[in-house]
Amino acid sequence: MRALQYRTIGAAPEVVDVDKPSPGPGQILLKVAAAGLCHSDSFIMGLPADQYTFGLPLTLGHEGVGTVEELGAGASGVDIGDIVAVYGPWGCGHCVPCSRGEENYCLHAAELGIAPPGLGAPGAMAEYMIVDDPRHLVPIHGMDPVAAVSLTDAGLTPYHAIKAELAELRPGSTAVVIGTGGLGHVAIQILKAITAANIIAMDISEQKLQLATDVGAHHAIRSDESAAGAIRELTGGSGADVVFDFVGSNETLNTAREAVRINGSVVIVGIGGGLLPSGFFSTPFGVRVRNPYWGTRDDLMEVIALARDGHIDVKVETFSLEDGPTAYSRLHDGSIQGRAVIVP
Ligand code: NAD
Ligand code: ZN
Repeated sequence: MRALQYRTIGAAPEVVDVDKPSPGPGQILLKVAAAGLCHSDSFIMGLPADQYTFGLPLTLGHEGVGTVEELGAGASGVDIGDIVAVYGPWGCGHCVPCSRGEENYCLHAAELGIAPPGLGAPGAMAEYMIVDDPRHLVPIHGMDPVAAVSLTDAGLTPYHAIKAELAELRPGSTAVVIGTGGLGHVAIQILKAITAANIIAMDISEQKLQLATDVGAHHAIRSDESAAGAIRELTGGSGADVVFDFVGSNETLNTAREAVRINGSVVIVGIGGGLLPSGFFSTPFGVRVRNPYWGTRDDLMEVIALARDGHIDVKVETFSLEDGPTAYSRLHDGSIQGRAVIVP
């Protein structure tokens, strides 16, 4: 079968022939219908050899939807022909966080060598993929696989981040979304759907700011040194209740620090490598700083329900598997509006 693999440190990913996998005991073979590209893939492909820990060759793709093609011995809970989304942050399934559905915070995944598909295990950018356990599959209830696939990360990650801040996002509150790309443009829609917050979007690209407005942001401002002042002005001087930073660079975290109100929250989702010094003489009194990772199994079910019921809609540009390398170079250039999705 054909697969899009990262094979050489520093080189572009390549489409190659690999053996079609067959499911071991308890596993499921999916025929992939759609696989999404994430900026995190670009991030790991930019790491130098001494920091790269994901194995080579690596079949990319941690957002996947497919049809159940074959069940390994003893696998149950899904049927051949079911169309399902892959819950990606695989955990051990037995520790306290996993038993709550928080496999994204599994206590043992690292020591057991359990890695998400596309981030260690072979991912969804191939004709077929293996899923290690039926609990990592969620029904998409008749949604189009291309429309549904990015809910598994570009939907799930902001949903998980926002849900933890719901108590702060009361009527009259203000949420800031920094970076309105794949995750950010879905974050705006989730905020609209489940909170009454005023939404201020920030980006460095005019096109992305237009997308932010199109999907419902109340204000869209350029991300530069004047942004924190603009946010203070828009909030009558008090600052934003919650800042969601989907970039995470030193520059954007500094804006977040200057724009957040007393007792507000800064939620760092982007892995831009920045650091936010927290404490007296840095952040305002009482500010919480959190860095959530991906989302829980029940969060994925809920965000799929939001999309199925028409509350959120991922803007998607599709590519063939053979055009996967082009899609990654477009993502790297910043010229994808919304999410890029590969249809093998
Ligand atoms: P993307 O490339 O689709 O979007 C990034 C957006 O940020 C673009 O619109 C870009 O124009 C904008 N941007 C860049 N620099 C900016 C700046 N200084 N100020 C404001 N906007 C700026 O990326 P994505 O796939 O949406 O991922 C966003 C980030 O989230 C990445 O760092 C990714 O690695 C990370 N991520 C984290 C998790 C997690 O679990 N925490 C999960 C998925 C992705
Ligand atoms: Zn991702």
